Amino acid sequence: MSHKCSSLIVHCMDFRFQRAFTSYMEETGLMGDCDCVSGAGGIKELVECEPGENNYVWKQIKGSYRLHDMSHAVLIAHLDCGAYGGSEKFASRELEFEFHKQELAKAEHVIRDSFPAISVKKVIAEIEGEDNVVFHDVD
Ligand SMILES: [Zn+2]
Repeated sequence: MSHKCSSLIVHCMDFRFQRAFTSYMEETGLMGDCDCVSGAGGIKELVECEPGENNYVWKQIKGSYRLHDMSHAVLIAHLDCGAYGGSEKFASRELEFEFHKQELAKAEHVIRDSFPAISVKKVIAEIEGEDNVVFHDVD
């Protein structure tokens, strides 16, 4: 088996999204072809801490790029993320969505600065209704 994969996915550790992340990977062809990085807030540390060996997310991206030759990063933020204080921290769903969009843009910049060859896809996940998760692609 090849030790290469096409992609890396970064998402929050939040258990409420586990099944949805798995389905997302299957539906987008990433299952079995991506390294997975999961932690509280997903990209939060990548954005808030200096890029380098002490930045867990950055270090995983570097490892995936070097060891598995991946060339595509999928960054998934989500609404009501406890690492960011949850939805109650925001005055509206729109403001929360915009905040995560900006966070994703910052994360994309960090990746482009450190690993220019990696393309980035940005996604915001949202729980709708009981436990239906919707994935929004963002620019
Ligand atoms: Zn979260």
